[in-house]
Amino acid sequence: MQQTSTPALPETPASAPPFRRGVLVAATVAAALCVVAAGWRLSRAPAEAPTTAVASTRADGTPPGAARRLANAASAALKPLGSAIEVVVRRNDTLDAIFRRLSLSVEDLAAVRGLPGVRQSLDFLKPGDVINLTSLNGELTSLTRRVSDTATLTVKRDAAGAFAADIVRNAVEIRTTPLHGRISSSLFRSFNELGASDTVALQLAEVFRYDIDFAQQLQPGDTFSIVLEQVYRDGRFLKDGEILAAEFVNNGHAYRALRYTLPDGTHEYYTPDGRSLRKAFLLAPVQFSRISSGFGLRWHPILDRMGTHKGIDYAAPIGTPIRAAGDGRISFRGTQRGYGNVVMVSHPGGVETLYGHMSKFAQGLYVGRHVKQGEVIGFVGMTGMATGPHLHYEYRVGGVHRNPASIKTLPAEPIPAALRADFDAKARPLLAGLAPQAGPDAPARAAPVAAAAATPAAGQMNVTR
Ligand SMILES: [Zn+2]
Repeated sequence: MQQTSTPALPETPASAPPFRRGVLVAATVAAALCVVAAGWRLSRAPAEAPTTAVASTRADGTPPGAARRLANAASAALKPLGSAIEVVVRRNDTLDAIFRRLSLSVEDLAAVRGLPGVRQSLDFLKPGDVINLTSLNGELTSLTRRVSDTATLTVKRDAAGAFAADIVRNAVEIRTTPLHGRISSSLFRSFNELGASDTVALQLAEVFRYDIDFAQQLQPGDTFSIVLEQVYRDGRFLKDGEILAAEFVNNGHAYRALRYTLPDGTHEYYTPDGRSLRKAFLLAPVQFSRISSGFGLRWHPILDRMGTHKGIDYAAPIGTPIRAAGDGRISFRGTQRGYGNVVMVSHPGGVETLYGHMSKFAQGLYVGRHVKQGEVIGFVGMTGMATGPHLHYEYRVGGVHRNPASIKTLPAEPIPAALRADFDAKARPLLAGLAPQAGPDAPARAAPVAAAAATPAAGQMNVTR
């Protein structure tokens, strides 16, 4: 039951012992309900440098990611192109300062800002923003500025000298990109090595959150394939989009997921044979946590004897969101001796879940309120009898404690029969996209995907547990 360190996030100080028995036995301060190690931190690969810092130092000497994002912005602040000027906004720049710097008419600027609806699109400038101006003899003839990912403001001067403004929608292009990778040390590192963002890694963990515990079960050598949407504008990469299809091979077991949009506009992930990946209860109420104490018999460090631990402890930093494991209704919210700040949720079928030692509750949480699965109900803390920050999680059926890790819960509804043909037709190209490109290990992994594409309804495809 008791699990110790995890290889999943080696950036974390794994050297911290999960169970400081010697220290705790000596410290007879209070009877510890649960015992965890302090000092565990969720850490991630370093984020890209913020754009503000980059813009002020220009493109040279900036990290590659940031440089790519700002590739659009010229390395020089001003780039005269005849009467056309491209201005890259500097830190603390204002339009007034820009116009004065370029010896452009500030009366023209006042006239442009006076146009209906223009002011809010013009006045908020961020370092790195690009404004295109054309002028003739110091008088403004046009101004263009992208106001969002999808809209551009254009102002033009007509022959009579009057300005008119228009908002043009930018066409964005959605491309699908296959990504194939192998877990070397951590999920985030593997994605970063492929040039993909942490957001995509988190999305992947979210897709398989009912089947794979990415903090506990990840193995070096696990592989993944993803068909990812990416958003481009003017031929340039803008941002990552949704995961359309994913395969994760964990410890030799392949899990597959396909995104499908239902007629009401919501989307779900299904296995290739149409079963939902969603289940009635989450595998763990806190993401990327470490089980510091499992369910069942364990040594009680204070009482100096064996005792039964009636839940699972998840070590996580203070403030980590705690999510309702399933749909239900709040049956208790308050403080209890031992548990500290505790929330209980009652679910259909006589199931009750309990979340203890919270640092604080989510806002607007009251007894009787309905909560959806995955909804944040509170935050990890160490209130009550806890020796370090963790969530104490219990799962009871008819009042009897059960091991949350052993619960086999029912999956959500499969693909409706009426949509089955449509699902199968959309699944085929996505499954083909999951097949790796020609490489040393291509034949071994391409075969099962091809088989799945040929017989999408094959019931023998055991892709989830
Ligand atoms: Zn506990």
